[in-house]
Amino acid sequence: MILTIHRGSKQIGGSCIELRTYSGERILLDFGMPLTRPDGSDWPRGTMTSPSKELRAEGVLPDIEGLYADAAPEFSALVLSHSHLDHHGLAHHVHPNVPVYGSRGTIEMLKASRLFIPGIAIPADMRELPFDAAVAISSFAVRGIPVDHAAPDSRALLIEADGQRILYSGDLRAHGHQRHLFDSLPETAGPIDVLILEGTTVGQAQEAHGFPDEADVERRLSDLLKIDKGMVVVIASGQNIDRAISVYRAAIEAGRELVIDPYQAYILMKLKDICYEAPQFDWPSVRVKFIKSHVRKLKDAGLWSLACQMSRAGKVTSEQLASDASRFVYLARSSRATVALLRYLTKTARPTVVWSQWSGYLRKGGAVPRFCYEQGIEPVLIHSGGHAQPEDLAGLVSRLRPKAVVPIHTEAASHFADYMPNVRVLRDGEATEIASLIVGGGEAI
Ligand SMILES: [Zn+2]
Repeated sequence: MILTIHRGSKQIGGSCIELRTYSGERILLDFGMPLTRPDGSDWPRGTMTSPSKELRAEGVLPDIEGLYADAAPEFSALVLSHSHLDHHGLAHHVHPNVPVYGSRGTIEMLKASRLFIPGIAIPADMRELPFDAAVAISSFAVRGIPVDHAAPDSRALLIEADGQRILYSGDLRAHGHQRHLFDSLPETAGPIDVLILEGTTVGQAQEAHGFPDEADVERRLSDLLKIDKGMVVVIASGQNIDRAISVYRAAIEAGRELVIDPYQAYILMKLKDICYEAPQFDWPSVRVKFIKSHVRKLKDAGLWSLACQMSRAGKVTSEQLASDASRFVYLARSSRATVALLRYLTKTARPTVVWSQWSGYLRKGGAVPRFCYEQGIEPVLIHSGGHAQPEDLAGLVSRLRPKAVVPIHTEAASHFADYMPNVRVLRDGEATEIASLIVGGGEAI
């Protein structure tokens, strides 16, 4: 096979990898939106859904012949590792005849985000990647191996073709509620020629990724919920199912009820067959705080009866939350709707705000950070990141024993060699034969 990293060899986010067989069959692994513009500033709203032609001219879409709708498609598939935007955000720009594969959880998350989040487009032809078997895509055998990450049903992708075996890690960690998946990955994957390995944390301070593990997050949340005398609002990503589980367990431990919004309730419902521990809106200690825009979106999607079910199962009003604040913990997003509720709660008593996502987003601002600043509320940081620490990556490599490791999703590829052998650093856009990586090609460091 021939490997080309179109984007991701020296940046975190926007990953895009091509594999081509010697007979010319091609697949793409992930097609993410870069997290920021090259100068570090945020993308203007709506960039992802701008016309493909404009995005190609700006370099947001890499120049890949045979991938886009303006020419005959040359790709057999796009395969997604997970549902974070920096891995799938540009997927709808590929030629409509190119099928897009992802795990069931990934497909459900993409559909849910299209339902609830403005400015999101998703591919039309999405196909499920089973969790326990490979699928044949032209002459590639592609298997999505479940991994532990902050997006539900995330996968590492094992690709076999031309007698070679490539493992692309996607994003993974060793410290979530599903860390056993990290431990079992070498056994599940078997022998590997080349490992394309994410290295988000390589070269970064450990503190940037929060507490050591998800169990620690759960303990700290539980301690806070027991001590705090009022309402606690936890701000986290709706996709972070481990976090929803941690907040729920902490709530139960502290004798509180978990309050979620219809968006979160919908996501958790869609994942209940994949993740049995994901709290459901019809569980006894789970309540739903209705938000007008969410209900409207459910109604527009023909899901009015689901909204009614949520209401019957456990609707809770702002008035109830304010009058019995110490009975609840609200898991929410940094949105205007959350600020409206916080403002209402503040009339009675000052709520505690827990920031339970990357601390960089808190510094960047947004609805809830601005509100906290205005009100003099200091958010409590309780978070653990989605990416393995370098030492965990080193342990993984020592057990996988690939013949070469290619860094991706990192700003510090040159530091990989401090942790593992046989590192080959590639450059974006450079086509490299897998065989040459194995026998010592590429830039060995
Ligand atoms: Zn991710």
